[in-house]
Amino acid sequence: MPLGPDTVGRKLLWSIALPGLLVALLGVGHFWREARVAVQDATQVESLALAEFVASTFTLPQARGAPAHGAVTEVMRSDTRLFRSVEDVRVLTPDGRILWSRRSGEEGTTHPEAARLTAPGPERARSVAQMTEVIRPLGGPECAGCHTSGDVPGASILQLRMAEPALHQQLSSVFGAALGSMGLFVVLLALITGLALHFVLTRPLRKLSVAMRRAEAGDLLVRAEARGTDELAQLGSAFNQMLARLTSMKAEEIDTHRDLELVKEKLALKDELEDRLKELSLLFDVARSLNATLELDELLDAVTRLVTERLRIPEFSIMLMNPESLLEIKHAWPEGRGAEGLTFALGEGACGRAAETRKSVYLPDTSDRSSVFAKPDLVKGGLNSGALLAAPMVHMETLLGVMNFQRPEVASFSAEEIELLNAVADVVATAVKNARLHAETVKLTMTDPLTGVPNRRHLFQRMELELARSNRFGTPLALLMVDVDHFKRINDLAGHRVGDETLRRVCDVLRLRVRKVDTLARYGGEEFVILLPQTNKAEAMEVAEKLRRAVAESVELVQPGLPGNHVTVSIGASHFPSDASAQEELVDCADAALYFSKRTGRNRTTQYEAGMELHPGRERGPHTPTAEPPAVTAAPNPPGGVAKA
Ligand code: GH3
Ligand code: MG
Ligand code: MG
Repeated sequence: MPLGPDTVGRKLLWSIALPGLLVALLGVGHFWREARVAVQDATQVESLALAEFVASTFTLPQARGAPAHGAVTEVMRSDTRLFRSVEDVRVLTPDGRILWSRRSGEEGTTHPEAARLTAPGPERARSVAQMTEVIRPLGGPECAGCHTSGDVPGASILQLRMAEPALHQQLSSVFGAALGSMGLFVVLLALITGLALHFVLTRPLRKLSVAMRRAEAGDLLVRAEARGTDELAQLGSAFNQMLARLTSMKAEEIDTHRDLELVKEKLALKDELEDRLKELSLLFDVARSLNATLELDELLDAVTRLVTERLRIPEFSIMLMNPESLLEIKHAWPEGRGAEGLTFALGEGACGRAAETRKSVYLPDTSDRSSVFAKPDLVKGGLNSGALLAAPMVHMETLLGVMNFQRPEVASFSAEEIELLNAVADVVATAVKNARLHAETVKLTMTDPLTGVPNRRHLFQRMELELARSNRFGTPLALLMVDVDHFKRINDLAGHRVGDETLRRVCDVLRLRVRKVDTLARYGGEEFVILLPQTNKAEAMEVAEKLRRAVAESVELVQPGLPGNHVTVSIGASHFPSDASAQEELVDCADAALYFSKRTGRNRTTQYEAGMELHPGRERGPHTPTAEPPAVTAAPNPPGGVAKA
């Protein structure tokens, strides 16, 4: 029977067939036992009746002098067909000797069970091993005369042993056959039940189970058999409906999942756009705030603020290429670590490598000694460990410097942040370039191109500053106006180029002899002005005379065709606050003193005195005294002398 292990059919079969078989066996056994008892009873009754019959023959009257039972015993002995169930018939004496037996040859012998058979008692019957034995007393006084030779009349014993009758044996065999048939029936029943269970239950259930397993494995298109109207068909139908519902749910889930993925993608895009927007806004802010200033120092301050506050980077330094082509730290944060001024060569440390390759260098962990670019004193007292990004500042393929961003946490810069910081470095590079261009432009507008000293515009700015300082601190300020004597003649004699060179040399002589705090400027043409802070009148005259002499004695300024064949200068000096309080007036006073030097012979120095005549063609400042100057005559000094009013 095609039943696999643990099938419902098999279980049902065992649960039905086994109890059935058991009940059948019990029934048959019971029936068999009852039949046996009935057969034994019938055999006993029959044996008793036969024994009674045999005994009664002893009471029959004699015929022709012979006892009647003699004929009976003859029949019993000779006709085996009639009494075929009778095994033995014996007549025993009370002491167990066999008087008569159906079997020949036994008479006269003593019965082996004589003691049992001759035991006193009434008639008794017992059945052993399909054999029934009846023992009863036999004969009475009527037997006297025949059985007298030593016999005790009336004391004989009849032993009759009778096998079960043939009918009874047939009944037993019928029973056996019935038992066999029943066994066969049970086997057939089990077989039929098994087959029925297989086709009706097990197979459909197995198909349903296979369908369920396939569905469980994900095949939602599988369908169970649902033919008929029984419970299994209903189960299959319900399963199919459930699968159909699941299929539609799965389709909905797929749709939903796809929608979710789309939404996720959109959200990711939105996040990315927001991040980009933030970065752009930050970059815009950086660019705007950096473009707000053209002063390099202010710019570097602004960069440091932006990096530490907006970008939340706790440690930062910005390096610019210095004239020696070294990277020099210009600003560092936190301040006060003495990092400013440190220099790095190209290729040295992470910053040097970034500058050399013009690509940013990122060290996720600066304490990792395998980071060959790491330099411990990149920022003095700085981080031992942490992350470092060195971003080069390149503008129009020109390396301007490097920005170093540091965080104490290892690997704390994301790829996006590195990209942003590189962009910031580019913006800062542009701003630095602009600041430098601005500085150069300013320098150009403030410097005289021929001599390299500040021009008139710068002079007045400086003068304003110095006057404000003198006013505030009550310190004196002297102004010298220097004019090259007969300069036109040099031009005329030697040409403008020589004139220009003469101007440069005079300027050099003057520049080398003034202090750093003094300001030498070209006032115009062949005139120079020197501002001398914290200098009183006498000191100013000393300086003026020193300068005049230096020009007159300079070997570089020999010029044939001039008086003494040498370039000379005339100088006029004015003083704050004694001569004037405003810058134009101070210049006018010096100019008047200079004019006095010219008028009194040139190559001399004059200190302004009130009432001095202004140089013709120049406008007098509002402060200049309009009253007639006291009659002061400048005594002609010998060349190189000081004109005294
Ligand atoms: P004085 O002794 O009275 O000062 O006579 P001067 O010839 O020096 O003065 P003047 O004002 O007559 O001449 C100044 C000349 O300087 C006129 C001008 O052509 C010349 N000059 C002005 N600026 C320059 C310059 O940059 N280069 C040259 N080569 N000459 C200049
Ligand atoms: Mg002049
Ligand atoms: Mg002159």
